[in-house]
Amino acid sequence: MQIRHLSRLLEARPTPSPPAPDADAEPAARARRIRSTVERLARVERVPVRTVTTGVDVRDGLHREQWILDSPLRGEFRATLLSPASARGPGILVLGGKNARREQLTGEVVPDHPDRNMAEHLARAGFTTLTFEYALTGGFDPQRLTGRDEGALLAHAFALTGRSLLGALVGDALGVLDVLRAHERVDAGRVGLFGHSLGAAVALHTALLTEDEPPLCAAGHLGSYASLYARHLTGFEGAVLPGILEYTDLPALYGALAPTPLQLQFGTSDPYLDTDDARAAGRVVGAAYSAAHAPPPEVLELPMGHGTHVDHAVAFFTRAFAQRPSTPVAVAAQRIRFDVVERRAVTDRVDAALESGVLTQGPLVARFEELTREWTGRPGAAVASGSAALEIALRVIGVQGRTVLVPANTFFATAAAAVRAGASRVDFVDLELDGLGMDPEALSAALDRHPDTAAVVPVHIGGIVAPALDHILDQCRERGIPVLEDAAHAFGSTLGDRPAGALGRFGAFSFFPTKVATSAEGGLLSCADTGDLDHIRRWRDHGKSAAGSTLHDRPGSNWRMSELHAAVGTVDLERFARTVGARRDLAAHYDDLLAGVPRVRAHPVPGSVRSNYYKYLVYLDESADRSLLKKRLRERHGIHLAGEVYDNLLCDHPFFADRTESQDHPRARWFARHHIALPLYPSLTHAEQVRVVSALRGELS
Ligand SMILES: *Cc1c(COP(=O)(O)O)cnc(C)c1O
Repeated sequence: MQIRHLSRLLEARPTPSPPAPDADAEPAARARRIRSTVERLARVERVPVRTVTTGVDVRDGLHREQWILDSPLRGEFRATLLSPASARGPGILVLGGKNARREQLTGEVVPDHPDRNMAEHLARAGFTTLTFEYALTGGFDPQRLTGRDEGALLAHAFALTGRSLLGALVGDALGVLDVLRAHERVDAGRVGLFGHSLGAAVALHTALLTEDEPPLCAAGHLGSYASLYARHLTGFEGAVLPGILEYTDLPALYGALAPTPLQLQFGTSDPYLDTDDARAAGRVVGAAYSAAHAPPPEVLELPMGHGTHVDHAVAFFTRAFAQRPSTPVAVAAQRIRFDVVERRAVTDRVDAALESGVLTQGPLVARFEELTREWTGRPGAAVASGSAALEIALRVIGVQGRTVLVPANTFFATAAAAVRAGASRVDFVDLELDGLGMDPEALSAALDRHPDTAAVVPVHIGGIVAPALDHILDQCRERGIPVLEDAAHAFGSTLGDRPAGALGRFGAFSFFPTKVATSAEGGLLSCADTGDLDHIRRWRDHGKSAAGSTLHDRPGSNWRMSELHAAVGTVDLERFARTVGARRDLAAHYDDLLAGVPRVRAHPVPGSVRSNYYKYLVYLDESADRSLLKKRLRERHGIHLAGEVYDNLLCDHPFFADRTESQDHPRARWFARHHIALPLYPSLTHAEQVRVVSALRGELS
């Protein structure tokens, strides 16, 4: 390709293509992917912005506040708030074009166009508006500018650092939006965005990165990127995300906002826009809204230049805020989240692995194993899954033809691993209700029943390492039976100063996505004895008789962890101290909120235990109907509870029902029937917790 053939460049798509939002994906999934691409490319560094008010006055019926905002990234910048009355009402962040000055937008100086002072127009129409300066000019030595555009030079400087000017402006806008939401004159639930030209680009990307779907009116910014570029050639470098055309085009970005209320204005004599192209773009946006079953966006083709139709904008916001739905935003049962910086760290590590050609059992897996040690207190070998960890341990122990004892209440994988490892019988032990572990007396009875017991596998339900485990360990020691802890729930939990997984001969952990730490798929088997570690490594690698040997001395399998999984796992482990800290804070907040709610009580975590709060467990009293409660929380309040641990006993699963004699287990049955698990994950907010608990209170009183 010749470099000067720009149209070919702009149409080119790389091969193999990145995971572009494909045409057949479900609209919501496609929109989510577009939003996440924007988040990644924009590299927005979200920072809280501090505000200092430097002046307040009332002029021509408008309350005006002059602010100096301060962000740790950008330093100080100025903003103006205009408000019509003292009553609380909707707020609008007003983002002007590249050359719009704040004083003109707010009407403090006579505007050069009658529609330039949009912040004033919207304030006079009853909205509190906030306008901040971009500061795109004045940073360069005028002598050396030689007529060049400062915005373009700034965009170039950002590109040199791998960032984008648009991303920086969006970061400012997100910070300022938070300030607007928190203002005493603004109803936090009713905040919108207005943008013109460059401001429309900022507003669009800000809306894409905002979860509560603020109504957006965008003027003078509709078309496809190739056409916009062909039309005016320069001046817009700051209004695009570098690399976005690899994934999607401008109309699809607007389309991804569905069902956010949206008005798009374009003028038929706008020198920057091509009318046919803008029309076509409007149709693409409309189709995306329709595919998402959202009310159609307003696409207004107007007889004007590069401007804004004030009355249409005012009418749009009036309608949008009047119709703001009052249905609550859902509280998810689970959110697995990596922020942009963490996602970049994962992709950089994957990239390094691909570049080196070492795709499994390499330096990332070694680093993963090293990072786990801080939390398990012992060396361990990374494996393909938690189930693989359990099976390998049982194979090292050698359970073939003998009995393995597991709790009556656990995940299927605990017992299935014993079956696969060749145990002739798996039997179930009732639990004790203090630490939710195996009941020592029930275990003693089971051991008497099965003198051929080869291994005992306690499980740390919900992240609680039961204090009664010491009695289990004592009994097993006396009888010479090895203990394998299924610590799939308990990575990072402790009993006294002993980490979960470090009490028995083996500790098996899972790094499945729903667990407290994840490598997408993965597991870890830790052990007390370095001899065992050597065996584990051989089992996980096809039973080689020694590392690197081509001879095999046992029926091992492929239970290895890949470097790509370790890329995810290492990033998650590097943030794990924050993860577990956040989980514990949230649990303490639930403890406070739940005190005094009728007919429920939180499971009291024993004093010697520090749980990772894999689950926050709550008991319902006898009269409450769990499935009805869950349905009502979901349908009436948008609240999704986390899964129970567990609602069926293992002996009741079809696979085990015919294979076991013991199906009694009264305490395990009581627990299975009466507990629920509240949503708890690091990104859960205190406000969401308040909603969860008040919904519970509402349904139970
Ligand atoms: C998740 C889990 C497992 C299995 O882990 P995988 O990584 O999915 O194989 C085993 N035991 C318990 C108690 C679990 O919760």
